[in-house]
This record gives sequence, structure tokens and C-alpha cells, in this order.
Amino acid sequence: MNIKELTLDRESLAAAIASEDSTFERELRDLAYRTKVETIGPEVYLRGLIEISNICVKNCLYCGIRRDIRCSRYELSEEEVLATAQIAAMRRFGSIVIQGGERTDQAFISKITRLIRAIKNIEPAVEGDPPLGITLSLGEQKKEVYEEWFDAGAHRYLLRIESTNPDLFHRIHPNDPLHSYDRRLRALYVLKETGFQAGTGAMIGMPFQTAEDMADDLLFYKEFDAPMIGMGPYNPHPETPLTLQGAPYPSAERRFALGLKMIALLRLLMPDINIAAATALEVLDPRGREKGILSGANVFMPNITPVNQMVKYNLYDRKTLLGDGALSFNPETGIIIGYGQWGDSKHAVK
Ligand code: SF4
Repeated sequence: MNIKELTLDRESLAAAIASEDSTFERELRDLAYRTKVETIGPEVYLRGLIEISNICVKNCLYCGIRRDIRCSRYELSEEEVLATAQIAAMRRFGSIVIQGGERTDQAFISKITRLIRAIKNIEPAVEGDPPLGITLSLGEQKKEVYEEWFDAGAHRYLLRIESTNPDLFHRIHPNDPLHSYDRRLRALYVLKETGFQAGTGAMIGMPFQTAEDMADDLLFYKEFDAPMIGMGPYNPHPETPLTLQGAPYPSAERRFALGLKMIALLRLLMPDINIAAATALEVLDPRGREKGILSGANVFMPNITPVNQMVKYNLYDRKTLLGDGALSFNPETGIIIGYGQWGDSKHAVK
């Protein structure tokens, strides 16, 4: 495929996704990175990732912490979360993400509300920095819960749709009302109504997924007018029903290339949004984060979860990811880290 033929309609996006022409892929990534720098500048923003708990009421067929899998469960105490958020403030990360398995019990909901309030009261390390921005990624909740957490001070919420093809969504989730495509979609719109910057995303390169499915995911992000997207390559966990079914999926090398390509295409489609260089990229390549940014991403999430618990948040095999890694980039790339800022997308600010 030739980069000049790319028109960003469904057919052209699907052809770009299906193409394995390395020259085209390199040109596409370069164009997306130039677009990113010209539209929103060279800065990238940090989100200190706190994985609060691997307890989940859901049973997604691809997930290594699904309800029915046998694994060691944990839940960080409020003191542990606060101490971790203090570290993010001290290091001037600007924002944190509180992510965890989905829970809808009152004790959990109230704990999150207390934590949001307490985190908003942490003194910034440098005078003039805003209090930490808070993104939540805690699944589908009732409208009242979203409102409670928004009113407490969280302002961004990531709820991944995982696939915008309802048939594929149902192939990778159990067939019951708890795992409903319509319910997921409704929750996304409720988040928006509540006032959150509502982000979403999907897995890339999973079994049964076509290039057209991935093109539709990109077009959905645009239609939903998402100010931020967190999408990443599918990484199999050996003990999940999806892996055990044995259905084929692209090689690690192809999934990595697809992950970068989806970032690049999305940057061209939505030049001023926040796009994360997802942790799933780093599992496939030690320089995955930097390569994601050089393909058009502008956010990354150093994992600051206490290491003794981080090992148990095993969505997929990610032994390579312990610790947040160095925050530096190759100086020749010109990438600058935007310390001490929330790093909301230009799109959201508009
Ligand atoms: S993907 Fe999320 S909601 Fe589904 S089982 Fe895993 S942690 Fe729970």
C-alpha cells in the first residue's frame, strides 16, 4: 500500500491495517508522529498507574484475573494507595490512574470516594503545580456511582469497549447479562453525561478479529468523540478460556506492528486527542513505549503499584514489566516529558 492512497475511510483503514508492507508501515508511523508534534507538540504526559486490586466480579474470557481463575488476590489498603499517590506527586507525574478489577459493592465504592478526596488534598511537590489529576479505570458502574466519584474529584475515566463488533465482543466474553455489549456502550455514554472525559479502547490482534473490525474500532472512537484512547495489542494469558480454545491470532511481531499502526492511524484520524502508549506494547518490545510515542502516542503510564502486589495483577503474561522502568527516552528522539501537568488532551480542553 502507498501512503498517498490512505484516505481514512473504512475501506482504506482496513487495507492499511491488513498491509504488511514495512515501508508503508514506517512511512505511516513517521507521518503520524509529525502530525502529533505539529498538532499538540513534542511533550508526552505521565499517568502514574496504581493497580488497586485484582479482585473482579467479571469473567472476561481473555483475562488473567477473571473471577473464575485461580490466582492470588490482593487489594491495596487506603494507606498503601495514598503513599503511592504521594510518590506520584513527589515525582511530579501530574496525574495518576487508579485501575482495578470491577467491583460494585458499597465498601469498595466508598473506599474509592474517600481515596479520591484524600488524593486531591496531597500537596504538590512544586508550588504552582495542580493537585494530582485522577483517571479511574474501574469498569461499569451505576450512574450514581460515576457521579459520586466525579463529584469527589476524579475527572477522567477509561472504560475499554474491547471490540466494537458486538459478535466479537460476545465471543470474548461470557454470554450473560453481566457481560453485555449494550451495557458497556451505555456505560460509556453515561460517563460522558456525568462530565468525565470518557476514554475507551480495544484489543488489537486478538483471535477472530479482522482488519475491518479494527477499522471499525477506530471509526467508533471518532464517532464517540473520545478525548483519550488506551488500546493495545492482545497478549494471551496461558490459562484463560480464549487461549485454551486454541484459535489462531497474529504472531507477537505482527501484534506489535499492528499496535503501532493503530496508534498511527488514530493519530491521523483524531490529531488532538490523548493516545496512550499502552503497557501491552512494552510486553512485546522493551522499547515499546518509545516506539508507541514515535508512532503518534503522547501518554504513558509508569506502573507505580507496590512491586509485591504488581506481580499479582496478571492480566496477561507480563513478567518483563516489573517496576516502572526508566522514564527517559533516547535524547535524539526530541521527546519531552511534561512534568507537573494533568496533560488533558487539546481535544478535551476544546
Ligand atoms: S478484563 Fe477487567 S472486567 Fe474483565 S475480568 Fe479482567 S479485570 Fe475483570
